[in-house]
Amino acid sequence: MTALTDPDAIVKITPTAGIQVARHGWRAKCLQRLVRMDLPVPTSFAISAEAVRGIAAGHLPDRGALAALIERAEGLVSVRPSAANPAWGGPGTILNVGINNECHARLVQSRGKPAADAIYLGFVQSFAVHVARLDPDMFSDNGGDLQSALRAYESETDEEFPQDPARQLAEVLRSMARAWDGPTARLLRQAKGAPSQAPLGLIVQDMALAIGPGVTGSGSIQLVDSVTGGPGITGRFRGQTQGRAQREGTETLYLTRDPRGPSLEEAAPEVFADLVRYGVACRERLREEMQIEFAISDSNLSIIDAVRVQRSSRASVRIAVALAHDGVIPIEEAVTRVEPRALSDLLHYQVDPRAPRDIIAKGINASPGAATGQIVFTAAAAQAAEARGERCVLVRRETVPEDIRGMHAAVAVLTERGGMTSHAAVIARGIGLPCIVGASGISIDTRARTMQVGTRSFHEGELITIDGTSGEVLAGEAEMLEPALDDSFTQLLEWADSLCRIRIRANADTPEDARKARMFDAQGIGLCRTEHMFFDDQRLPAMREMIFADKPEDRRLSLERLLPMQRSDFVSLFEIMAGLPVTIRLFDPPLHEFLPHDREGMRELAESLDLPLSDVTRRVEALSEFNPMLGMRGVRLGITVPEIYDMQARAIFEATIEASKNGEPVVPEIMIPLVSARREVELVKTRIDAVAAAVRNETRQDFTYRLGVMVETPRAALRAGDIAEHAAFLSFGTNDLTQMTYGLSRDDAGRFMGTYVGQGVFAEDPFHILDRDGVGELVAIGAERARAQAPGIIISVCGEHGGNPESIAFCLRAGVNYVSCSPFRVPVARLAAAQESI
Ligand code: PEP
Ligand code: MG
Repeated sequence: MTALTDPDAIVKITPTAGIQVARHGWRAKCLQRLVRMDLPVPTSFAISAEAVRGIAAGHLPDRGALAALIERAEGLVSVRPSAANPAWGGPGTILNVGINNECHARLVQSRGKPAADAIYLGFVQSFAVHVARLDPDMFSDNGGDLQSALRAYESETDEEFPQDPARQLAEVLRSMARAWDGPTARLLRQAKGAPSQAPLGLIVQDMALAIGPGVTGSGSIQLVDSVTGGPGITGRFRGQTQGRAQREGTETLYLTRDPRGPSLEEAAPEVFADLVRYGVACRERLREEMQIEFAISDSNLSIIDAVRVQRSSRASVRIAVALAHDGVIPIEEAVTRVEPRALSDLLHYQVDPRAPRDIIAKGINASPGAATGQIVFTAAAAQAAEARGERCVLVRRETVPEDIRGMHAAVAVLTERGGMTSHAAVIARGIGLPCIVGASGISIDTRARTMQVGTRSFHEGELITIDGTSGEVLAGEAEMLEPALDDSFTQLLEWADSLCRIRIRANADTPEDARKARMFDAQGIGLCRTEHMFFDDQRLPAMREMIFADKPEDRRLSLERLLPMQRSDFVSLFEIMAGLPVTIRLFDPPLHEFLPHDREGMRELAESLDLPLSDVTRRVEALSEFNPMLGMRGVRLGITVPEIYDMQARAIFEATIEASKNGEPVVPEIMIPLVSARREVELVKTRIDAVAAAVRNETRQDFTYRLGVMVETPRAALRAGDIAEHAAFLSFGTNDLTQMTYGLSRDDAGRFMGTYVGQGVFAEDPFHILDRDGVGELVAIGAERARAQAPGIIISVCGEHGGNPESIAFCLRAGVNYVSCSPFRVPVARLAAAQESI
């Protein structure tokens, strides 16, 4: 074994010592700050990460150096881990290193035998279990006294309990250094984002003994509530206790005066006042709400450590805003201190993390929030339950557009199949409904109205809870935390907007969605999927009639019935958005989605259209496609059955005129879906221009509009230069673009996505986080080619990635002007985009 020779390996923590987070860890740096503030911190030394690596490899400091660390004051020290990031953890602290028979005898004199025994016993237990790696059962907290622990140690190791303080310290340091290198510790910290070779520093600190006469003990204090983030002194004080384990017969005091029992504030008012003062000082100097760990020895206070207060999502917002409000941190910093995803916890009910959970299945957490309801297996049953005033969870193998009304009637949705951008997922996020998709562990029998999960079976009407935040399905009812859209939330987002370099719009299909978009301060609608307007009871029959029309004249007649309904939808959207931009996408899905799929439905349709059943069946069969996602949808339908787009364009223009009457002129944005060739744009543009001219003529009113193109096929991205010639804006539909780039069905990928991500084929689900290398490259190429052709063109992303923080970061770098996402994701997007902008 060679000794450590680096003179900087061990540094005393003084106000001017060269302590660095990267070398000595966050705890060393924090202690130095506490020392600089003149708080009563016991003498502390930082051992550098290089030295700790050397110690793990067997190169220990020489005996003299170790003795110098330990032979002061009462001759006892603690050893604590100090990683570069507190989240990475570290080996447990070991207290009272240095105690031996001689020191014990001294402590008997100064503190009495019970205190001296407790201190010695605590160390023997830690040393035996964590350093000598003996059986923990033999040295448990509850078992035995000091003498029997010492005897057990001797009989297990065949040697006397080490009496040399320097040797004790050497062994403790070595065991902690090696524990950091163990495979489990490594995996645990890597899961929290630590690099595989993350450094560990160690702190050797004089013990502030918390066992002995007078007001003596240890505790922690913080000035805010960890759940709400509101002001309030909380913490604990345990008499005659040091470290975590509480000895029998010790007393826990309330920190502040409390009718339920004695408090530290009453027992030692001056010490308490000092603690509060230190808390306030820490907040100001460390610019953070800190939890202070302290020890009191016969009314003498020592500050042992301080860590960032643990906090819920709600508290993290309130604390950041309060710190900026009080001028402790600038607003830019407050904006960066809150994890964007935390905001979505504030928008929805959440299962109380403290409540028990009976987890029956897991799936993809497609839409956050939690809700409890009775199981129903059909959209009709969901609507019936809603009509009875009952809360229900719609459980389906997968959802189809016809289920939309059932989804609106349900409080949550669970599907066996599907992925992050499947129908159920997209719609649920739009409505703000908790949703789990791809829960492949469940098996649904719609006829028997049961759901089998392993050996358990659930019937229609039984209660389940959907936790769309975690992706867990729970049996029965769960306790919930309420949403919290308070002033701090609003303030943080106002600051975020003031710093943000791009705009955030919402995907909103209905007036109700548009109201939500306004509620979350979206800066416009980036995508209105008009097909979602055709699924209500009045419109579906007209839509079906249109699909069944043989001749263009008949088709036009049914479309004329739809026209006023569409027009009034658009008038509402324009009015609600009050001058903010509104982008309306022309009809996108294949027509067969509007037709019934079972015999019963076809019979009903034949009846309502007064057609023979065989005609209906034939028409449905004729419209069915082998691969509808790649079939006659989007612009292909628009060119083949142009009357649909004509009707929509007319509805948009007439609504524009009407909505402009009472205020600023509305400038609608019309978007063509699924384009892959410039000629498609030319053809549609010519017809839309003609409709605009006709409406202007008929009404003698003028208006302008902008025509844009959705870039959803790889070819459209590659040919974006050509396409940009005819477009005022391009919006990347990254859902379809991902589907088509990978050749991966967005509705079926959920089945194997877990395996693929688990085995590292994909780092992440590409429908969830934009794939920078492939899909992202297409976005970047498309944006660059479009701008080369038309420098002023507006570029956006309106796929689901528009609400995902990592994807937003990419979009910002690719130079998009705005992203558009489901209304409930708008706050997360606003914060994520602001953080990337700073
Ligand atoms: C897309 O494909 O990204 C998109 C926004 O359109 P949709 O999800 O409606 O296909
Ligand atoms: Mg699309």
